[in-house]
Amino acid sequence: MSDTKVDYRKMWSELGLNLEAHDALLGAVGSLYGATYLTQENRPEGMGYLDFVMTEVHGLRIKELDDFRKAGGKVVGTFCLYVPEEIIRAAGGWCVGLCAGAEFAYDEVERIMPRNTCSLIKSFVGFKLAKVCPYMEESDLIIGETTCDGKKKAYEIFGEMHNVYVMELPQMKRDKDLAMWRSEIVDLMHKVEDLTGKKVGVESLRASIKEVNDKRRALQRIAATRAADPAPISGKDALLATQVAFYDDVPRFTQSMNALADELEKRVADGVGVAPKGAPRILITGTPMALPNWKLHDIVEKAGGVVVGEEMCTGSRYYESLVKEDGSDLDAMIDDIAEKYLDINCACFTPNQGRLDDVVRMAKDLKADGVIDYSLQYCNAYQIESEHVERACRDAGVPVLSIDTDYSMEDVGQLSTRVEAFLEMVK
Ligand code: SF4
Ligand code: SF4
Repeated sequence: MSDTKVDYRKMWSELGLNLEAHDALLGAVGSLYGATYLTQENRPEGMGYLDFVMTEVHGLRIKELDDFRKAGGKVVGTFCLYVPEEIIRAAGGWCVGLCAGAEFAYDEVERIMPRNTCSLIKSFVGFKLAKVCPYMEESDLIIGETTCDGKKKAYEIFGEMHNVYVMELPQMKRDKDLAMWRSEIVDLMHKVEDLTGKKVGVESLRASIKEVNDKRRALQRIAATRAADPAPISGKDALLATQVAFYDDVPRFTQSMNALADELEKRVADGVGVAPKGAPRILITGTPMALPNWKLHDIVEKAGGVVVGEEMCTGSRYYESLVKEDGSDLDAMIDDIAEKYLDINCACFTPNQGRLDDVVRMAKDLKADGVIDYSLQYCNAYQIESEHVERACRDAGVPVLSIDTDYSMEDVGQLSTRVEAFLEMVK
């Protein structure tokens, strides 16, 4: 999807990408983007920024990372919400979320790991094996975490191909788990300090906490406008904003998203929407939707519904809570970061009542007519937790549909039929 006016091939080649495979990936993502995004009507003008970012997803942004590294900067890749961006930035690094939202090189992947592995894991291993992800190749260090078993073991394989550091994440949220998690954050801080050669100080950490909070505040503003009927922005556009938040330049992204939020707030005041007033409103919960996974949102919105929220890591779990900004010294700030991050409600935790409460609360706040609980196939944690999600929604009187899928497009017809029937039922 890169700008044809600028030739980035030399840069990609120097990064070690397989140019032929990379062309195939970019071509596929570009066509998908056109069919999913550019066919929408009445989009907010502020989405022009995200269209531009997507056009340059492997171009200008990679050039920025490249220039940063050539000037001595270090880039840190992450896969999961639990890795605190604040720490990486405070040590002078740049953080990029590695996406893994498309099927690629599965044949090669399935030679080294079981077929029944979730799409997210297969995708990031496939991107590495096929050498198609410039964000991975620009990452001086990639941080993994012991969330689910699949990821844990995949990082062992991945670690043979890249510089990987794994954080241990507790699976419960007791005081002793918080203490352990805090010590993991301190270890991460030292690891990143060693990488960048810069110490995290009170001022740099305070500044990065504020900067990342500002990014989250901008996304909160966008999310709040989606409670309006008609919704001022489509679900897929809002999802894209969160997906891009993981790798774009932080101050520039924040500024652009605040401009988008201004526009959306005006739309709400003027009663302007992207779907007709009264269109079925859907909250989606479940496994994260990494770029370019727009499949379910597209199905819902092409069937006449509008997605008004995402209770997921590419949604509210990313931006809903902030790190406290009044920590007086480094220790207090690290406490605040540990608390904020351990408060994320991933299905890897037990028990995970917080997520169920969030789903019900968001469904009410956003006036959702129904909830779709989305799990990636072979993701035991989310698939098993689905039973609790269904029960919590039923108890709250909110209709719910559970869907298991993967990144392939083979089941789009079947899913569309189920979603259409659900939308019909909730209205
Ligand atoms: S679903 Fe869990 S493991 Fe996956 S990105 Fe979110 S927090 Fe991390
Ligand atoms: S989707 Fe599930 S199985 Fe896949 S990486 Fe995330 S938690 Fe693990």
